[in-house]
Amino acid sequence: MAMAGGIDVVNRMKDGLAPPALVLLGGVADIDAIRLSPQRDAIEVGAGARHDAVANSDVLLAWLPDLARCWERIANIRIRMQGTVAGNLLALMSGYEGAVLLSALGASMVYSTRDSRGDMIAVRKFGEAADSFFERGGLVEKLRVPLPMAGTTRRLLYDRSLRPILTVALRIDCAGGAVVSACAVIGGCHRWPFACDLPVAGVALSELHAQADGTARSAVRQMPEPTVPWFGVANYRETVASVLLSRLIREVAA
Ligand SMILES: Cc1cc2nc3c(=O)[nH]c(=O)nc-3n(C[C@H](O)[C@H](O)[C@H](O)COP(=O)(O)OP(=O)(O)OC[C@H]3O[C@@H](n4cnc5c(N)ncnc54)[C@H](O)[C@@H]3O)c2cc1C
Repeated sequence: MAMAGGIDVVNRMKDGLAPPALVLLGGVADIDAIRLSPQRDAIEVGAGARHDAVANSDVLLAWLPDLARCWERIANIRIRMQGTVAGNLLALMSGYEGAVLLSALGASMVYSTRDSRGDMIAVRKFGEAADSFFERGGLVEKLRVPLPMAGTTRRLLYDRSLRPILTVALRIDCAGGAVVSACAVIGGCHRWPFACDLPVAGVALSELHAQADGTARSAVRQMPEPTVPWFGVANYRETVASVLLSRLIREVAA
């Protein structure tokens, strides 16, 4: 079993998990590097980059500042200095936030297995592939976060006020005063977040405000029934997800 910062691995060992072998990833060269890809079209975040390093990375602050600012809100400083990006994703905990933010940005995981090297999978699709990833001895090397096209402004907005039961992220790319593409992600309701592209390409930012409620409602309606148990009022999470998403859309429009 791979062990990065060890926060989840050690907690699970306290609960009885007994892996036959633990492999510490800390010494692997560049496992924590955060850099611009050679083609300058993506930021590569090493699997072992700590949350604090992501939040304070000069490269991310220069190229994807919203991601650094959102990541800064994860956990407390003790956890941020120890927990890693891949550990956050691969712990498969519904309340963890890495998969929400990275799915919204269209990031991919670059990984190897016992019989392949350099495979890639979109973070938003990883939920379906997780079991086979672990069966094949998957090891994540890095995350690849694509950059927006030249002339396009990218925003990532995020509401974690109801974490861990619900988190909502919105990524929106704009150019010339209109939306190029947008994606909403809802975390906390399933083992892996629900991501959905919003049909607002071509809409002028000045018109987005008026469409916010309808767009948010129809996105949330596509979400499969939550699988993470919830003991409060029925449909509360779905109703609130729609309200929070609508607020994020209006914030961009403003
Ligand atoms: C008190 C507390 C508060 C927290 N608050 C938040 C919060 O607000 N938001 C949030 O998102 N998270 C939060 N967390 C979770 C925290 O972010 C994760 O526990 C942390 O990121 C896990 O990283 P790690 O490196 O310690 O993982 P590890 O424990 O080392 O690994 C976790 C899992 O990932 C696998 N793994 C790790 N690296 C790799 C790799 N490169 N390839 C393949 N498999 C790998 C391991 O085998 C294991 O299954 C909190 C945790 C605690 C204890």
